[in-house]
Amino acid sequence: MASSSAFRSSRTHQRQVPATHSHGYSSSSSHATSNLNSTTAHGQIPPQPARSRTPSASPRRILAPSNHTARLDDDEQDSQRVRVAVRLRPKNTDEILSDADFADHVELHPELKRLKLRKNNWSFESYRFDEVFTETASQKRVYEVVAKPVVESVLSGYNGTIMAYGQTGTGKTYTVGTLGKDDASERGIMVRALEDIIANTSASDSVEVSYLQLYMESIHDLLAPEKSDISIHEDPKSGEVSLPGVEVVKVQDLDSFMQLLELGEVNRHVANTKLNTESSRSHVILMVQIRRSILGKKVEDTTCQDKSISNDLYVDNKKPMIQKSKLLIVDLAGSERIDKSGSEGHLLEEAKFINLSLTSLGKCINALAEKSPHIPTRESKLTRLLRDSFGGSSRTSLIITIGPSVKCHAETSGTVMFGQRAMKIVNKVKLREEVDYEALCRKLENQVDLLTAEVERQQKLRENERHMLDKQLKECQGALIETKKSLLTRSEFLQKENMDLKGELKDILSELKCQKDQNCSLHEVAANLEKKYEQQLRENSAIQEVLAETTQMYERKIAELIKQIEDRHSCDEHAAKELDTIHKLLDDHQKSIQQKELENAACQRALAETTKMHEKQVMELVKQIEDEHRRFECAQEQLDLAKGLLSDQQDLAQNQKQGEIDELRARLQGMSHLHDATTNELHLLKSKYQNLLEREKAVLKESSQNTFNEALEHGSPVMSNKIKPSKETISSQKAAIAKICKEVGFQRILELLKSEDSDTQIQALKVIANLAAEGTGHEMMPFSPLSLD
Ligand code: ADP
Ligand code: MG
Repeated sequence: MASSSAFRSSRTHQRQVPATHSHGYSSSSSHATSNLNSTTAHGQIPPQPARSRTPSASPRRILAPSNHTARLDDDEQDSQRVRVAVRLRPKNTDEILSDADFADHVELHPELKRLKLRKNNWSFESYRFDEVFTETASQKRVYEVVAKPVVESVLSGYNGTIMAYGQTGTGKTYTVGTLGKDDASERGIMVRALEDIIANTSASDSVEVSYLQLYMESIHDLLAPEKSDISIHEDPKSGEVSLPGVEVVKVQDLDSFMQLLELGEVNRHVANTKLNTESSRSHVILMVQIRRSILGKKVEDTTCQDKSISNDLYVDNKKPMIQKSKLLIVDLAGSERIDKSGSEGHLLEEAKFINLSLTSLGKCINALAEKSPHIPTRESKLTRLLRDSFGGSSRTSLIITIGPSVKCHAETSGTVMFGQRAMKIVNKVKLREEVDYEALCRKLENQVDLLTAEVERQQKLRENERHMLDKQLKECQGALIETKKSLLTRSEFLQKENMDLKGELKDILSELKCQKDQNCSLHEVAANLEKKYEQQLRENSAIQEVLAETTQMYERKIAELIKQIEDRHSCDEHAAKELDTIHKLLDDHQKSIQQKELENAACQRALAETTKMHEKQVMELVKQIEDEHRRFECAQEQLDLAKGLLSDQQDLAQNQKQGEIDELRARLQGMSHLHDATTNELHLLKSKYQNLLEREKAVLKESSQNTFNEALEHGSPVMSNKIKPSKETISSQKAAIAKICKEVGFQRILELLKSEDSDTQIQALKVIANLAAEGTGHEMMPFSPLSLD
């Protein structure tokens, strides 16, 4: 642990926060109470007298330093307003028992963010907050809604304050300070906030905590109990509040922080025992200081002339900046009224001081809510400590805790009013950045060292270069003298060589003349050869012409031949295609022939069956006719018998019955006449029938011939052997038979069966068979064959 004066700073840059900076709550800013000053439920906050609202009359010296403008946009005001949430503690066993007969005096409507307080039996007062937590709200949700936005803001470089306000026993310490060692879900705001801060800072950043208790206007260090009555220092320029001499411990992990909180708790207990007081009478403050190094502005005033060197050395030429922010988490003393009579063993003077800070806080809140020009922050240590938390440059969240019991209605009402007034306060948050001069100095010293070394290096390099150049100059001078000498000897040698060459040149010239003469004769020979060559060329061209013509002729012939071959080829292809189609047709024909053969066979089978059936029927008919014939003979015999009887009777009563006999004779004669006429008619019909048969035969022949021709026409070789009558032929045959039947008469046809002529018999049989097949026989048989008699 190290004592630190880190809160002091030489120069502070302050930046305004953009209005859009997020805050965890919704941005609604409805304030329910109409007459906040009128309430006296909260005993420690005396009502403020009405003051003239002239913010410009006296600048808000302490709580709104420097450039606080009186008029902010509504949105901006809302985003920077103190956020207030209310949390209801669940009923404990005592309350469940004692309040059983009472109706709930608090009603929560979290969806509307409203709280209703029962005024009396028939009416409620409704208050709106930024968030309303029911008794079931989890610690996590409370943290995320109330504290997390403030913690995030602190991590971004702004100051932040989270406070818990409420009657003793309503859950302030539970909400803020629960360690949750056994159950992590129970962890309060302090532990969760540090967890977030540690997770979001790097090793180069610093997180330092101080843990304090404020009781009876005296600040005790809970991390170093020997330090008591710690003084508060306020920077007159920046308005920053610091506690020089307070124990500041650097925190790197959550475990060490938890240990610090535990230590603080033990020390608090010891201190309270020593002071003979309850913990609920003191305020507990956790102060977390965060320093984060960030990249600042460029160093502009570089003195280095040489740009190339400066480029190398000033790559990282930005001012090292530090972002400083502070988070205060305050577990306030119980807001209930203290009996000033000293009923708890305190003297009157003592009792006055016990909650002076809380009373003063209430006054400040009232003044800020009223936009009063004077905010009495100097009245107490708490308000001095929190002076930039309310209405200052900090983001502030306030959680007010209330109990469910009807018995503490007055306290609950006071707490709610406090919250409502706090909601009216608008802060002006600022980003706090400053130059890290130590780091800047270190950086500049480094740069000076680097530059000095570089200058030395350059000087040494230049000296070396000069030595080298002198040496080279000397070497060059020696080499020049030697070259001059060698040049002289060389020129002498060259003159001598020149003389020799002149002699050689003369010899060569004479030789050249001889060669010129030889050349002339060679030219003549060449001219003759050229002539010969030209003649040969001419001959060659003639031969080439002939060759070209012959080639052209052959080419033409070849082209014709190719064309012929192509034509043939296309013809062949065409023929092949036709062959294919013929093959297909042949296949189709064969298929149809097979089908027809099948049909023919079926028809022949049917014909055979029909013939058989008809023969059977004819046999039956013949049998019937024979029976009839026998009966006819029987009748003839009876007639003969009757004739015998008649002659007997003639003999017996010749005389008496002569008339009768004559009559019978006449009848007999009539009958014989009739018989003759019938026989004639039979002959006539026979001849007619013969004619009809002839006609029918002719018709049958013709139809057979047609069928035969049709078969031939279809090109079927099979059909030429097996003649199959078509349906039309059959139907025409049938029609002819029906016609014959109609003309001749069925009885007559039956008689023709007995004809001696076999041809006639067969024809009659055919007709009957057809009639039987068609079922016309029945229609044609209107009378019984017996009627022939
Ligand atoms: P305060 O600090 O306001 O005096 P405490 O935080 O000590 O009140 O709470 C009083 C009792 O009520 C404690 O036993 C605490 O565990 C319990 N308590 C308070 N709030 C809750 C809650 N939201 N859920 C459960 N128990 C709670
Ligand atoms: Mg407490």
